[in-house]
Amino acid sequence: MNCPYCNHNETKVIDSRESKDGTSIKRRRECLYCQKRFSTNEKILKLDLEVTKSNGSVEVFNLQKIKNSLLKACEKRPVTLEQIEAVLEQVVGDVKNLEGTCIATKDIGGIVMDKLLLLDEIAFLKFAIVHNNYETMGDFLGQIEGLRSLDGKEFARNLIKKEERTVSVSSAEERVSLTDTQGGRV
Ligand SMILES: [Zn+2]
Repeated sequence: MNCPYCNHNETKVIDSRESKDGTSIKRRRECLYCQKRFSTNEKILKLDLEVTKSNGSVEVFNLQKIKNSLLKACEKRPVTLEQIEAVLEQVVGDVKNLEGTCIATKDIGGIVMDKLLLLDEIAFLKFAIVHNNYETMGDFLGQIEGLRSLDGKEFARNLIKKEERTVSVSSAEERVSLTDTQGGRV
């Protein structure tokens, strides 16, 4: 931790306070060189939690990884860094409430998607597509419908409606071209 005034790298902690939800620690520090004081807000990025991936491998829960994916999904979207930080705090809160010390990557993905959908639909879609190798549109819709938020269910219903519309339009076109062919034969 470098002093923001003189860039000296030794500071002492005067006061330390954990945030209400336990995801960050606010520290009051004093520079050992220039004696000026400043505050830091340090995120707790690691939980004592293991994550099982779809290929069966296990790794330590890493919030930074989720943050990087969120930043990527929210690129060029009207989402602020503060909003992303808030999503991360909610995710940590939800993950901490889960039973056991092991969670599947897809469950974490579901929790993140649930929060992201409320923030920005396009960012949500980008995140969902990168994180799940959907085989079909049905797989995709099925997962969205499984989201806990009301918005998730509403969103899935709207997508299904759009898909049905596309299907009925293409069968109408087929009928038209069929009539043309028959007409040609006569
Ligand atoms: Zn200093």
